[in-house]
Amino acid sequence: MKQAIVVGAGLVGSLWAVFLARRGYAVKVFERRPEMRAVGYRGGRSINLAMSERGWKAAEMAGIREKMAHVALPMPGRMMHAVSGNLTYQPYGKTGEAIYSVSRGGLNLELLNIASQFPNVEFFFEHRCVDVDLNESFATFEDMKTGEIKRIEAPLVFGTDGAFSAVRYSLQRTDRFDYAQKYLDHGYKELNITPDEAGRHRMQPDALHIWPRGNHMLIALPNADGTFTCTLFLPFEGPVAFENIKTDADVMDFFREYYPDVPALMPDFVEQFRENPTSSLCTVRCRPWQWQGRILLLGDAAHAIVPFFGQGMNAGFEDCTILDAMYDEFGGDWSRMIPEFARRRQPDGDAIADLALRNFIEMRDLVADPKFLLRKKIAAALHEKHPEFLPVYSMVSFSNTPYRVALREDDAQNQLFAEILAIPGIEQNWDRPEVDALLQAYLSNRQA
Ligand SMILES: Cc1cc2nc3c(=O)[nH]c(=O)nc-3n(C[C@H](O)[C@H](O)[C@H](O)COP(=O)(O)OP(=O)(O)OC[C@H]3O[C@@H](n4cnc5c(N)ncnc54)[C@H](O)[C@@H]3O)c2cc1C
Repeated sequence: MKQAIVVGAGLVGSLWAVFLARRGYAVKVFERRPEMRAVGYRGGRSINLAMSERGWKAAEMAGIREKMAHVALPMPGRMMHAVSGNLTYQPYGKTGEAIYSVSRGGLNLELLNIASQFPNVEFFFEHRCVDVDLNESFATFEDMKTGEIKRIEAPLVFGTDGAFSAVRYSLQRTDRFDYAQKYLDHGYKELNITPDEAGRHRMQPDALHIWPRGNHMLIALPNADGTFTCTLFLPFEGPVAFENIKTDADVMDFFREYYPDVPALMPDFVEQFRENPTSSLCTVRCRPWQWQGRILLLGDAAHAIVPFFGQGMNAGFEDCTILDAMYDEFGGDWSRMIPEFARRRQPDGDAIADLALRNFIEMRDLVADPKFLLRKKIAAALHEKHPEFLPVYSMVSFSNTPYRVALREDDAQNQLFAEILAIPGIEQNWDRPEVDALLQAYLSNRQA
């Protein structure tokens, strides 16, 4: 039987094991953490994630779409919370389109369950990859229970071991391997809103809630159990920053000034702020994602991005669907397929990294800007009237348009809307011939 090794049983690794099993591979999956189904999921990070079209497509191919649909909460729009308490709702796309809040742990466990149903998939938990041999087909693991070092035959290795990938670290030692990691000046802290006395959500559950405050912001995604997971994004250093919120009184002052509606939703916000860890955010770019057509990085190991477009997992899942489609195109010849996948897909990894950084500015800053809200309204109206015009958010979240195309379109649409918003009186009426003319010029440039 054909053999493959998957390093890391996170979201992407456990999904990719399912794809390999379906292709008839004997798959050995090595995971550093203990068996999650026995000890409960310890994600240590955001407990829910926004899943969009690319993620659903992969879920469909893995045969778990229906199961996920039962526990996924649709978020058809953003609810913006002003300091004054005013709420503004903005749909993400057309009627019927939504991004979905799914449980990170629930999804990971479901994927592990599905992969385990294949007799040709074997899991090795508490096995940490320490090295991948680049000259011989072997990978080395430490059995974390016994301390034993095991050398495993590994003709085909998929590194799905996340942003600080050990597989990638092995590749980093090769000649001409490019690697860059860039930390954001902002960190994040997760906070939790419990349900009300009747077990219901304390805010509208069918929205992603955002408190945009310029250089910092709070977001909240609903969970199926009536809770919300909130994430506060704040600079580490500076006048309004984690470094200056030291005492309980500082926490209270900070929330009273910037997030005055939060204490009523989260009475224990001070304790949570004190006790929950502050984590950092990093973008990782590297290339090539492969070595000699037999070692390949997928998911965060290849392209870790900041979370502001809600695309990290979606992009990793799309890696799997694209690679699986290439399996047919290349008749299962990994030695040709792996280098070609790495070559084709890497520009998309770079593009979604850029789009995610741009969306940070949009979320924390622009969503509160009247010009930006006007742009969103005009874009939605144009999309309704001319379906061939797809706003970039929709391209990324509701279509499978390659990320590199979406990035190019982002530049072109920024230019288009700079011109549209400069038309005198546009706030009152945007259904006018000048707007149509600008749109037609944009569409014909795009086709050219
Ligand atoms: C705050 C935050 C919010 C996010 N929100 C979203 C969102 O809304 N939507 C979205 O699509 N994405 C989101 N993401 C991104 C998403 O979490 C990642 O893109 C996704 O988890 C990547 O999956 P992965 O399997 O590649 O890596 P990981 O999930 O990191 O999994 C890697 C696995 O490898 C294991 N491992 C690591 N090292 C080793 C080793 N040496 N040996 C063996 N095993 C190892 C780890 O234990 C882990 O199980 C968010 C990320 C953050 C930080």
